Amino acid sequence: MFHEIMSCDKRNIVGNMIFKVYEEYKTKDCSGKSLSNSCYEYVTDIVNHEKKTTLYLPVENGNKDVVEVILEKCGRNDNMRMRLSLLIAAIMIHNQEILKMIIKKNSTWIHSMDKHDMFPPHYAASIGYLEGVDLLLGLCKCCTIQRDKYGYFPIHLASYGGHVKVVKKLLQYCPDPTKMLDTSHERNILHIAAKHGKYEVVCYILESEIPQHHKLINLKDKNGDTTLHLAARSLHPTIVYYLVNQNNKKVDLDLVNKNNETTLDIVSSHYELDKSSLR
Ligand SMILES: [Zn+2]
Repeated sequence: MFHEIMSCDKRNIVGNMIFKVYEEYKTKDCSGKSLSNSCYEYVTDIVNHEKKTTLYLPVENGNKDVVEVILEKCGRNDNMRMRLSLLIAAIMIHNQEILKMIIKKNSTWIHSMDKHDMFPPHYAASIGYLEGVDLLLGLCKCCTIQRDKYGYFPIHLASYGGHVKVVKKLLQYCPDPTKMLDTSHERNILHIAAKHGKYEVVCYILESEIPQHHKLINLKDKNGDTTLHLAARSLHPTIVYYLVNQNNKKVDLDLVNKNNETTLDIVSSHYELDKSSLR
């Protein structure tokens, strides 16, 4: 029902009534929690069969009047989940107009965090939403060095997703990418792009005019793996070929990881494994 109201009620007459009903619930439940707040939490969490929350729909439909009412409620109740749902919905569907509306309401909301400790710039970077990243970083450049729960900066997620333009943008705020490592594997953006087969990101970094970026090619992660080890182990032949042939002056083929393996050892073990499976 909530979903239908939020997606169909263009003038927001019923939506407004629902909010009024919530307001009436001034009483508290047996645990002392305000019923009004419980209703707001319910309406922000409930998802339809497409896994969309009720707040996602007015943003998706560009229903600015409903968004305006919700923004008013967020302000009064300081409901973090509600404002984060709105921000994320605007980001996920690249709705610049509503994103601006939300930020204008309160620019500090860009520091709302979800249960994975992801900030809005993490979301925008992970889906390659360049204008969104630009808008958010225009308000706070420090967000580029915010880690999520798994130790990733927004630039790591952009690299993982293969979003070259966002990687390029975020590199402007990152003077030394050799020091931008995730905390789980101690990998840089080139490691991540190579491991996940993001050929264009790998090419962009290694063809950059900034020599500092080229140094990433021989750096090792926590296990001693280089970009080449990771591309070979994850079976990305185009990237392996590019690293070995197009970058033969930069890449060091003799580097070993903590298991004392060169990239050739990894390729050979894959080959042996393939042969034995064919027997
Ligand atoms: Zn920030």
